[in-house]
Amino acid sequence: SADNRISRISSSIRVIPDFPKPGIMFQDITTLLLDPNAFKDTIDLFVERYKDKNINVVAGIEARGFIFGPPIALAIGAKFVPMRKPKKLPGEVISEEYSLEYGTDTMEMHVGAVQAGERALVVDDLIATGGTLSAAIRLLERVGVVVVECACVIELPELKGRNRLGDKPLFVLVS
Ligand code: AMP
Repeated sequence: SADNRISRISSSIRVIPDFPKPGIMFQDITTLLLDPNAFKDTIDLFVERYKDKNINVVAGIEARGFIFGPPIALAIGAKFVPMRKPKKLPGEVISEEYSLEYGTDTMEMHVGAVQAGERALVVDDLIATGGTLSAAIRLLERVGVVVVECACVIELPELKGRNRLGDKPLFVLVS
């Protein structure tokens, strides 16, 4: 059942306190990747949800969105578009700045990777404050893409990141 799959996924995620700095409870999905059943269940749950939603773009956020995004994209017949840290993409890019706890960061996407009117799913491993996902949504919407939903393996609900996504739906497996 879905519930059994969720509890297996949840128990395969390792929590490392005070990484990368004091006070952060780091949700380590590398232990999920070591368990082929949990990894498969994770991808299957997303594919079951998105296979009939006419999604033609899976936008994966660097770095862990590059692990979960591509198998979903292949299974639903969508293209995969990497949303990268600055200066990584070799072609012409469109960029979006977003705020972090201290300072700002930038996300980039190749110009021409997506077309106006295409329907996108945005994938990352985890939503904390929602700043990263909201930047990805803005970047895609600036070029006329319809963002259907955001999907993460993990949500940290106490940080209320969902509120930063406006009316955009967010689907998570583990809270
Ligand atoms: P945010 O923009 O605050 O929603 O942060 C989300 C991004 O930071 C994602 O790409 C996550 O991989 C990473 N991240 C934030 N907090 C954690 C955490 N506690 N454990 C693992 N990754 C995190």
